[in-house]
Amino acid sequence: MQQLSGNLFIISAPSGAGKSSLIQALLAQHSDMQVSVSHTTRAPRPGEIDGVHYHFITVEQFKALIEQDAFYEWAEVFGNYYGTSQHTVRQSLEQGIDVFLDIDWQGARQIRQHTNSAIGIFILPPSLEELENRLNTRGQDSAEIIAKRMAEAYSEMSHADEYEYLIINDDFALAQREFSHIVLAQRNSFDSQLSKHHSLLTELLAKAAK
Ligand code: 5GP
Repeated sequence: MQQLSGNLFIISAPSGAGKSSLIQALLAQHSDMQVSVSHTTRAPRPGEIDGVHYHFITVEQFKALIEQDAFYEWAEVFGNYYGTSQHTVRQSLEQGIDVFLDIDWQGARQIRQHTNSAIGIFILPPSLEELENRLNTRGQDSAEIIAKRMAEAYSEMSHADEYEYLIINDDFALAQREFSHIVLAQRNSFDSQLSKHHSLLTELLAKAAK
């Protein structure tokens, strides 16, 4: 994808790190930011709405979309397929909207092969103990289920060093501020401003004598 006027952010984290809450809190304050709604073959969880949380589709439909080259990136994550729509992301970026991709490390690697302008932010829990607490959602899951979730979390966390920014989500209000500062700073980077305000900057900057 060529350089477009919105900024592209890749947000990854193990489950239980608070990624969705951080993204939603930021989106609530900015109308020119969006989270990309992925396609997935996993079953909806209680409360999840088709088209809002994910586009829930079958494996056959997913494979057909791969054939049509509809995905910007896709991956198999813990037994299910997930993919980001190429068309939707491009359209939003072209309209100057900043887009958040809530995707795993495999998807992040693919995005980096297409563009060097995506900014990766990785979110970590404050401790293993706290992560285990957060993953034991009902407080009564079996040791086996918790061990499986912890193994999945370790697998995702082992790729944190592939991202530009790291947020440790201990105090949510602080993590929220850090997240917001990273995103807003990126919006004000020279390249981002140049792509958004190209004609203004050409006019203002071109005539100065050096
Ligand atoms: P969950 O099933 O818990 O919603 O998501 C499981 C994992 O899949 C999370 O790490 C999430 O970020 C990742 N994921 C969600 N959508 C996509 C996507 O479109 N592409 C990739 N590569 N990963 C995704």
